[in-house]
Amino acid sequence: MEFFSTTKTLGILGGGQLGKMLLYTTRKWDIKTKVLDPSESAPARLACDEFVMGSLTDFQTVYEFGKGLDVLTIEIEKVNVEALEKLEKEGVKVYPQPHVLKTIQNKCLQKKFYRNHNIPTASFDEFENLDQVKEGIIKGELSFPFVWKSAEMGYDGYGVSIIYSNKEIEGLNDGPCLIEELVPFEKELSVIVCRRPSGETVHYPVVESEFHPTANQVEYVLCPARLSEQATNKAIEIALQTAEAYGQIGLLAVELFLTHEGEVFINEVAPRPHNSGHFSIEASYTCQFEQHIRAVLDLPLGKTESKASAVMVNLVGKEGHTGPVVYKNIDQILAIEGVTPHIYGKKETRPFRKMGHITIIHHKIDTARKMAKQVKETLSVISK
Ligand code: ADP
Repeated sequence: MEFFSTTKTLGILGGGQLGKMLLYTTRKWDIKTKVLDPSESAPARLACDEFVMGSLTDFQTVYEFGKGLDVLTIEIEKVNVEALEKLEKEGVKVYPQPHVLKTIQNKCLQKKFYRNHNIPTASFDEFENLDQVKEGIIKGELSFPFVWKSAEMGYDGYGVSIIYSNKEIEGLNDGPCLIEELVPFEKELSVIVCRRPSGETVHYPVVESEFHPTANQVEYVLCPARLSEQATNKAIEIALQTAEAYGQIGLLAVELFLTHEGEVFINEVAPRPHNSGHFSIEASYTCQFEQHIRAVLDLPLGKTESKASAVMVNLVGKEGHTGPVVYKNIDQILAIEGVTPHIYGKKETRPFRKMGHITIIHHKIDTARKMAKQVKETLSVISK
């Protein structure tokens, strides 16, 4: 299927920063694109050929958007899967496939998928509502601490809570949920895998994520992760097993926990470009966005090795600042060798809103990590 400088069109559901970064590749290769996003000021708007404003979760909107496209992909997994199923039946190539999205959209289905495929994951139980959870505690079937996860509404840590006592249950949203064993992990790891329709598969190096202590949000991603060879191999093995089990086409970001005993468990996956792969824009021979485009258009996959070590710093809105955004001291960080900022183009900042990221590359990962701290302390995202 020839897309280069033709009228064949690639559709993308979602026009946020991930969509915008996917479009760097379609621009580079002169591939025609059409983007759907509910926001008038979606970051991807300026780089696509056609922009449609509309809901990603409404059947009719997604169906009308997708009709007549050659290939359709996503940058966010909360989209109307029924519309994608219909489009797939009518001949549109939909990657990731609707059946993959269906499993991933529901945390209970996703966890059961791992259990059924013998992919190591923290033990869990499913509940219909919070009353059932409370009953489980009274009967002694559940004991504190544990992790509560809403079956359907999670994103970036919302819909996930560590529960230490009855008191915290009161603040949770009611509805179907899963209760998971709390894993006292040593590190959170991620491996990005990419598969093509033929089954050709590549993976990026294992990365480690460091979280902000209070915001429950990734602050730094380090590539490569500082790990034993054994843990590295286990992480890669699980990630490849998972991508194959799903039959995923395109990127699959596999999030993992490494325990103090050296065990590796899968936490969850994202079937799209992922924050833990942003380092690849500067550090890898083929960045994750180009890799995803290659895979969904069924083109040969690119080399995933790194040219240098890298640390990615998420640039989020400073606490206490809401309104038109200012990137304070960005000129100072640009003066540091190996530092590249990415600004997503969101006009308004809010506390902890993802506004951009910065990649720091260096041949030594420990030096890159020290530089990342300096960058983080220098640059701040504030309102006017
Ligand atoms: P989301 O879909 O909102 O990103 P995750 O399932 O990734 O939700 O959980 C968010 C964070 O909560 C994880 O990155 C991890 O830090 C923590 N977490 C999730 N599950 C567990 C667990 N079983 N044990 C310990 N921490 C967990």
